[in-house]
Amino acid sequence: MRSPIAPRALRLAALALAALAPAAPAALRAQPAKPAPPRATEVYAIRYGTLRAFPVAGLVAGADTARRADIALMVWLIRRPDGRNVLVDAGFYREKFMARWKPADYRRPSEAVRAVGLRPEDVTDVVVTHVHWDHLDGADLFPNARLWIQRDEYAHHVDSTGRARDRTIDSLDADMLARLQRAGRVRLVEGDGREILPGLTVHTGGKHTFASQYAAVRTAAGTVVVASDNAYLYENLATRTPIAQTLDSASNRRAQERMLRLAGSPRLVVPGHDPAVFVRFPKPGNGVARIQ
Ligand SMILES: [Zn+2]
Repeated sequence: MRSPIAPRALRLAALALAALAPAAPAALRAQPAKPAPPRATEVYAIRYGTLRAFPVAGLVAGADTARRADIALMVWLIRRPDGRNVLVDAGFYREKFMARWKPADYRRPSEAVRAVGLRPEDVTDVVVTHVHWDHLDGADLFPNARLWIQRDEYAHHVDSTGRARDRTIDSLDADMLARLQRAGRVRLVEGDGREILPGLTVHTGGKHTFASQYAAVRTAAGTVVVASDNAYLYENLATRTPIAQTLDSASNRRAQERMLRLAGSPRLVVPGHDPAVFVRFPKPGNGVARIQ
């Protein structure tokens, strides 16, 4: 015999299920939860590949032409308490670059950020330090990101139709950059010493390209400087030697000196391609170095 309460209980249960029903398919589709922002700003170098036996003379002006080094391909991530996840540079992924450079230990930059718990769509901003393929090409892997590039860097390399004006930028990347610009996703930075987000300032003067920039990030342990290619290796910084590829060696040397002044300590200047970053900052490991 059925309890007289049962039909009412069933009705209530059915109502409760009906109320839940519209949410259920969405819940099934749901992505992993967005990671909670950190309490204080964190800065990481994330490795996405290696170029083997690269000539050091291409990095350090005047280096012995016989020297070769396996150099790191990196992007840098700033995780902020305000929830913004800022990538400095975006690496590369297009097939022509893969075929030409054959990187070892490669993972797409958009996959590499998962090592710190982020999905590509969690990246809110990309600071493009300069237009070289191995720093700019991956910018469109991050569908929600705004790009920050110097106005002079953009204007020097890309015309209004998206054509490359200079061989420094690859034609595919010029087209991509113009496409993102048309989509309203590009912020053009007006020169040196601009604080683009609270505590995140970009500086020019490295002259790796026409208007390359680097980033200075305020953290609890002092300012971290993400040099990108404005200082390729620790050797550039330690010996005050300009990078091999610069439009202005004296300007590059001054920029490196300024990075060292801006940084909370010399060890907080992070060069653009030095695998020793992952030796000096071994944690958490597996291609991720927590700088601060
Ligand atoms: Zn470069």
